[in-house]
Amino acid sequence: MKIKEIKTKSALTKSNLPEVDYCLNPYIGCAHGCIYCYARFMRRFTGHNKDVCGQFVDVKVNIAELLKKELTKNPKLGAILLGSVTDAYQPVEKKYGITKAILEVLVHYQYPLSILTKSDLVLRDIDILTRISNCEVGLTITPLDKKYSKVIEPLAVSPDRRLEALSRLHKAGIKTYAFIGPVLPGITDLTEMLARLAGNVDFVMIESLNQRFGDWDNFIKTISSAFPDFLASYQKGFSKQYWDEVEQTARRLCEQNKIELKGFYRH
Ligand code: SF4
Repeated sequence: MKIKEIKTKSALTKSNLPEVDYCLNPYIGCAHGCIYCYARFMRRFTGHNKDVCGQFVDVKVNIAELLKKELTKNPKLGAILLGSVTDAYQPVEKKYGITKAILEVLVHYQYPLSILTKSDLVLRDIDILTRISNCEVGLTITPLDKKYSKVIEPLAVSPDRRLEALSRLHKAGIKTYAFIGPVLPGITDLTEMLARLAGNVDFVMIESLNQRFGDWDNFIKTISSAFPDFLASYQKGFSKQYWDEVEQTARRLCEQNKIELKGFYRH
C-alpha cells in the first residue's frame, strides 16, 4: 500500500448529488478496493493513472484546518456528505485521525451532515457524532455473505460488523441508514438484508448495478475467476424488467420490515 501525505488546496467541493450541497473527502483513493467502486475514475484526476485501485491512499493532512477557514468565510453552508469518492473510515484513518479532526471542526457549525462508510471504525467517533444535531450515518452493505464480500470488497470489514455498527449507532440515538448498492444479482440477498436491518436503521437507499461504469472489464474478470456460475448472466446484462422486479421486491420487503425506502436508484 502506497500512503502519501499531501496538502490539499480546498476542503469542500460542490456536489451534484441529491440533497447534498458539499462533499468532503479526507483521502484520495481507498484501501477497501471494492471491485464495483465507481470512484475508480478519480485516478485520472489525481495523478494516479498508473496506480492500482485499493493500493494507494493520499492523506489530506491539512484538510481540517482548511475546512475551518472555509466555514468561517461561508457560515450559511448547506448539507455536507463526508466520504463521496473515498471512505472516510478506511484503515489509514486509525493512524491519521483526519476524519475525527474534521468532525471536531464540524461540531461547532451544526450543518446537516451525512457520512457513508463501510467501516465500523465510525463507532470510535460516537461521542462527537451525538453532538452534531442533524447527523446521519450510513453503512454500505452489498453482499451479506462473507464468501462474496471478501472477494468483492476485499479490505472492508465483514457485513456482520457493519450491521452491528448500525445497531450500535442507532442505539446511541444517531440517525442511521443502510446503502444497499450496487445490488449484485444472485449475490445481494435483499430478503435477509432487510430483515436484519429492521429496527436498526431509519431508512435504506438501494442502487442497481451500473454496467456502464469505468472498470466493468475488471469487474467481469473477478466474477469470472471467483464466481464463474454467475458469469454468463453478468455478461448478458440485466434488463429493465429485471430491475422493475427487484424494485417491486425491495418495496414489498421494506414495507414488511417497516423500513422507509428513501430511494431506489436505477442506472
Ligand atoms: S469503500 Fe467506497 S470508495 Fe472505497 S473502494 Fe469501496 S466503493 Fe470505493
